[in-house]
Amino acid sequence: MNPSRFFHHCPRCGMQQPAPPTGNMFACAGCGFRYFFNAAAAAAAFIQRDDGRWLFIRRAKDPGKGMLAPAGGFIDIGEAAETAVHREIREEVGLRLEDVRFLCSHPNSYLYGDVTYPTLDLFFVAKAAEGQEARALDDVQSFVWAAMGDIAPEQLAFPSMQAAWRQLRAEHAVG
Ligand SMILES: [Zn+2]
Repeated sequence: MNPSRFFHHCPRCGMQQPAPPTGNMFACAGCGFRYFFNAAAAAAAFIQRDDGRWLFIRRAKDPGKGMLAPAGGFIDIGEAAETAVHREIREEVGLRLEDVRFLCSHPNSYLYGDVTYPTLDLFFVAKAAEGQEARALDDVQSFVWAAMGDIAPEQLAFPSMQAAWRQLRAEHAVG
């Protein structure tokens, strides 16, 4: 359920609302308090190593448990996306990145518990720094280094990453 649907009471004055908000904004019928619902930002990287292969993790947890994904995660409040992508990749697979460039962004829905978080997923392309070995760390069941043509977009956990991978494959003329 979208987070706004849980706002039955005003978080400022406590008044029960006639109905939970349906749009992007909560506006209290009593005190006029307004609160805007926004997408949570996430960052992920398609990481290539020297032999041309790309890194995909297998997710250890839901949503998308057991499915492939580029490594990444949610951006902390106050954190830049460029900082978050380095941090998340270090935490999940222990790699240091080089030549990080922005690829594209896509909205997504991320169901965790009984809350469906609207997200904006930012995708980067990067190279693994030389001499580094990937490891399966936080939230990662296992990982694979695969040729671009061996991972079909449909194998990835979320529509946002499928679209980003499709775009990167098109840039490399892989159908
Ligand atoms: Zn109120």
